[in-house]
Amino acid sequence: MAEQTITLLEQYSAKMNHILEWLSGYGADEQGGVTRLLYTPEWVAAQDALSAYMKEHGLDAFYDQAGNLTGRLAGTDPDLLPVVTGSHIDTVICGGKYDGAYGVVAGILALTYLQEMYGPPVRTIEVVSFCEEEGSRFPLTYWGSGNIAGNYSMDRIPAVCDRDGITLEQAMRKAGFGPDSPHIQCKRSWDTYVELHIEQGCVLERSHQAIGIVNGIVGQRRIRVAVKGESNHAGTTPMGWRRDALAIAAEMIVRIRRSALEAGDPLVATVGSIQPSPGVSNVIAGATSFTLDIRHLDVKALDEYTSMLQHDLTEIARQEGLEMDWEEHLNVDPVLMHSEIIADLQQICTSSGIAHRTMPSGAGHDAQIMGARRPAAMIFVPSREGISHNPLEYTANEDLMQGFRVLTEWLYQYAYRGDCHETL
Ligand SMILES: [Zn+2]
Repeated sequence: MAEQTITLLEQYSAKMNHILEWLSGYGADEQGGVTRLLYTPEWVAAQDALSAYMKEHGLDAFYDQAGNLTGRLAGTDPDLLPVVTGSHIDTVICGGKYDGAYGVVAGILALTYLQEMYGPPVRTIEVVSFCEEEGSRFPLTYWGSGNIAGNYSMDRIPAVCDRDGITLEQAMRKAGFGPDSPHIQCKRSWDTYVELHIEQGCVLERSHQAIGIVNGIVGQRRIRVAVKGESNHAGTTPMGWRRDALAIAAEMIVRIRRSALEAGDPLVATVGSIQPSPGVSNVIAGATSFTLDIRHLDVKALDEYTSMLQHDLTEIARQEGLEMDWEEHLNVDPVLMHSEIIADLQQICTSSGIAHRTMPSGAGHDAQIMGARRPAAMIFVPSREGISHNPLEYTANEDLMQGFRVLTEWLYQYAYRGDCHETL
């Protein structure tokens, strides 16, 4: 590697730390975390600060009507659609410094680095700081990427409220956005989307690998299982005569865990919440409901496992003389990342001697919204102890920089040659 490149990379390594730290000051909370909810003053200040940084560093910066912020490094061939990178800057309540912010900051740095090293690309490169991904203020997710992809529109703003009864539209207008604002319309065309993100799991750290190349974002099924038995006296009802909904729900939960272990990776099944009724220590529970979250990268395997489980749990209830109700309330199919970009990223890691693996993402990301329309890819870097959505969220600078290098190299190869991927 040329000496000039090494020095420049060192400078960018310092910038990475500095900007992430600086950005985490917008919405810094008392618990040492970051709380930056959509359209709040902290969120507005963070987007405006990033916009100013982009402009100071030679990028065109502009908002759309939803509040997505784009930084653009214009290409020499105006006929080529832009290649887009980025992530989101909204956080959960008391979140960390890296989730979302890393992809935005690394994207901005990638564009300024490429401009500094090589001048303008052939194909325009954009970095987008999506306005919302987490669903922490309003009960909706991917409001940012969903507006760009056309899943949402300013003509049909969802009628949702935050905890204080403020509607999404009111909050958006107050922050200076919305259908009458002077910004560009949200829905637009792009060529390819590549997102850099922390893993939010412990696979990379435990396997001592620096980079995860995501092959797809898992599909999800969420179900509420309700078991109906008979409530009765805990002292006077002999064990053999009971129709104990909580005890049978417990058997079901054990079955769920065992069958998921048997099915193996990447299938995961989780019961995260259980409600017995009446929920009193000296009364046999007459009813019990629990949540069930099932995820897999392969839609067929996901559906087969889900049907098998529904059948098994129904059978457990029937054998015990209880009734069971199965109500699916979320059904999201997996989104596969683009095979050519995956191969490009694998090649970049191999030739740079970076330890990497190809892996699914068990969490949802903007890449699944963008990737449902156009070719997309995701690059993961390790999360210390797999911790995320928490002030303890941390990724070492060395790892942040490996991700930056892979993203930058791929953008260079793609945008400076003006390559095209076939349309999905
Ligand atoms: Zn995120």
